[in-house]
Amino acid sequence: MVPGARLVILGKQGAGKGTQCVRLARHYVVPHISTGEMFRSAVKAGTPFGQKAKEFMDAGELIPDDVVIGVVNERLDQDDTKHRGFILDGFPRTVHQADALAEVLAPVGLDLAIDLEVPTEVVLRRLAGRRVCQDCGSNYGPDKPPKEDDICDVCGGEVIQRRDDTDAAIRRRLELYEKETEPLISWYLARDQLVTVDGMGTPDQVTARLIRSIDTRRERRHAR
Ligand code: AMP
Repeated sequence: MVPGARLVILGKQGAGKGTQCVRLARHYVVPHISTGEMFRSAVKAGTPFGQKAKEFMDAGELIPDDVVIGVVNERLDQDDTKHRGFILDGFPRTVHQADALAEVLAPVGLDLAIDLEVPTEVVLRRLAGRRVCQDCGSNYGPDKPPKEDDICDVCGGEVIQRRDDTDAAIRRRLELYEKETEPLISWYLARDQLVTVDGMGTPDQVTARLIRSIDTRRERRHAR
């Protein structure tokens, strides 16, 4: 296996990106960089930045590009990402963010951007029942509740409903996904960097599909 990986995971909220990114990060031994998690930590820490971010997040709105790009660039400049690579989850979300990422990664670039595809009616159902650990971000749902009520199986933290998983915020996030993020699929396709992976099935089936697609593309890329 070629060591490390440089991946972007696209997909609607509720497509299973969080769960799959944790698994892929373990498989390829690379940091999982979730911008949503970074912002939720800032909110929890009560920093001035966190207080500002909270207003956008609770309404399901996007945090302004310049702010997000600054936070991600800083993270990508650390030793672990420079040496091993990364899995970006929730970034880029706009064409402007994709342009900025391409610029900061040049000349090496990405291995691959993956579109994790799940129908909208399925993500709506998943989001309505979704709960997360407020400490480590592990996801739970009606099909996968914590073993003990409200206690995270992974770290023992409290399992809660996300503040932005209200009907109005969910609707707004999906609207913004269509308008701002879906164009990235053509953006990466035009650069021959996109693979679409079916996100339906058990988490194990989806992980196996993802690893197969990623390995095929990376071997081809590294053989050039
Ligand atoms: P997520 O956990 O990826 O669903 O992100 C939660 C919230 O954080 C989003 O609804 C946005 O308010 C904010 N956010 C996360 N990533 C980004 C991004 N790349 N650009 C703008 N806002 C973001």
